[in-house]
Amino acid sequence: MFGSTTIAPTSTPTTTDLRRTNLSAVLRLLHEGGPQRRADLTDTTGLNRSTVLSVVDELSELGLATETTPVSDGTRGRPSAVVSANSDGVVAIGVEVAVDRARIAVIGLGGAMHRSIDIDVNPAKAGPSETARAIGEASVGVLAGRPTVIGVGIAVHGMVDHQGQLTVGPNLGWSSLDLGDAASEWQPADVPTFFGNDAALGARGEYRRGVRRERTQLFYLSAERGIGGAAITDGASQLGISGFAGEVGHMVVDRGGRRCACGSLGCWETEIGESALLRKSGRRTNNRAGAAGVLSAAREGDRRALTAVADVAGWLGFGLGNIANITDPEMIICGGYLADVLALDRPTIEKEMTAVRVPRGLPGPDVVPSALGADAALVGAAELAFEHLLADPARTGDDRPKSHREAGAA
Ligand SMILES: [Zn+2]
Repeated sequence: MFGSTTIAPTSTPTTTDLRRTNLSAVLRLLHEGGPQRRADLTDTTGLNRSTVLSVVDELSELGLATETTPVSDGTRGRPSAVVSANSDGVVAIGVEVAVDRARIAVIGLGGAMHRSIDIDVNPAKAGPSETARAIGEASVGVLAGRPTVIGVGIAVHGMVDHQGQLTVGPNLGWSSLDLGDAASEWQPADVPTFFGNDAALGARGEYRRGVRRERTQLFYLSAERGIGGAAITDGASQLGISGFAGEVGHMVVDRGGRRCACGSLGCWETEIGESALLRKSGRRTNNRAGAAGVLSAAREGDRRALTAVADVAGWLGFGLGNIANITDPEMIICGGYLADVLALDRPTIEKEMTAVRVPRGLPGPDVVPSALGADAALVGAAELAFEHLLADPARTGDDRPKSHREAGAA
């Protein structure tokens, strides 16, 4: 990994550049790959033993890594020290602001989720200010006793641009909102805050910690009231010029169809969002518990629920076939409740995908359920917050960014 790292080509790297690059490379290995023998760090990075020793010492002094020496197993040679990211001592906060719920998690360096709780707020009803206050109160509770928070990542179910503006969240009912201003109502000034769209961060979570992280061409589909999507290609999020790429929920699939929350007619989410499942099953409720009830009834063989699931599955396959034609992914990950639809009626999904897939007969991408489930966006949000630390582990205080949008590199 280290051997392929590129330093600014127009100038000779300084000692400071090299130190920063080495710290970053080793900390990233520990964060993404888990505890490593110091000897293995030497092999993987291509750095010599004394440099690795010095880098690990500095990461330990910074409080970012810990080192333990295992007892010899009796084989020849001295046992190598095992180096770990300091998961308990260095944490990020991940937050997800969905339409009718919000969650918060404390995730340690290295990816361990220490704690996650539902926040007592309905964002669409409460509005941005009250939601921000509720997140602030919840963060105090989940952080009790935690020493170092390096950043906060917030996944929002809406269209977040590159400047951290929520341009519109059709299902949230929020628009033209500066997320940094909203978060500043509760966020300590010295902790940087990062924002992203829930699907983009769900994709980042799956890429880093969920489904087959080594896959390089992923398309992730988030699914609740609204439907979102995000592509990761060769490790980079594909966000588009404004940051809005992947809004496949608003792909028009039926110009004579139903009115969508975005104002258009016949968007894909009017046929595969949770509300669509409820409508097709004849249920009057329009909430998460209602959708879970339909899925549960379908699993028990309820004919009307199964018909509703099959109808959603058909529209899902139709859209996935189009996405496959446009983005040519290796794998499509179904998040949210669509993972349940996939489990209940994969044949219908695959039949409809095949019907629209070109060239004919070409094998389609793997379609798999999310490995992280409801945690995908939370995990991705925390990963976004960790990213600035991984890029420059020794940066402190005033050098740290105060806020950031979802960045391209996943
Ligand atoms: Zn729409």
